[in-house]
Amino acid sequence: MELYCKDCKFVYEAPRCPSCGSKHGTPARGGDLCFLTEKEQIWSGMLSDVLEQNGIAHIRKNLLGAGLTVSIGLGFERVSFFVEYKDLARAREIVEELFPDGDADGQ
Ligand SMILES: [Zn+2]
Repeated sequence: MELYCKDCKFVYEAPRCPSCGSKHGTPARGGDLCFLTEKEQIWSGMLSDVLEQNGIAHIRKNLLGAGLTVSIGLGFERVSFFVEYKDLARAREIVEELFPDGDADGQ
């Protein structure tokens, strides 16, 4: 059974949340907002588009925020994506298809 960590919004199979180590996860439910992935700003628009095309509602959260990106540049900004648990499996497949290497970094 997949468990959901309220603090990190992580869905995981292991006994502990991989992000914070908490063992107090609860069974994930359809409406839980779940962490999907984190992408660089330049890829986040594309991912947003494809999720929308597939009818998957999602929330984006910029990691650094506007204040910081002004000084260090948008290229360093990373965006976290959250989707509802009922869409998580589909959304993960979409991420896999778009980013088969797991991450767009390092090229
Ligand atoms: Zn956690």
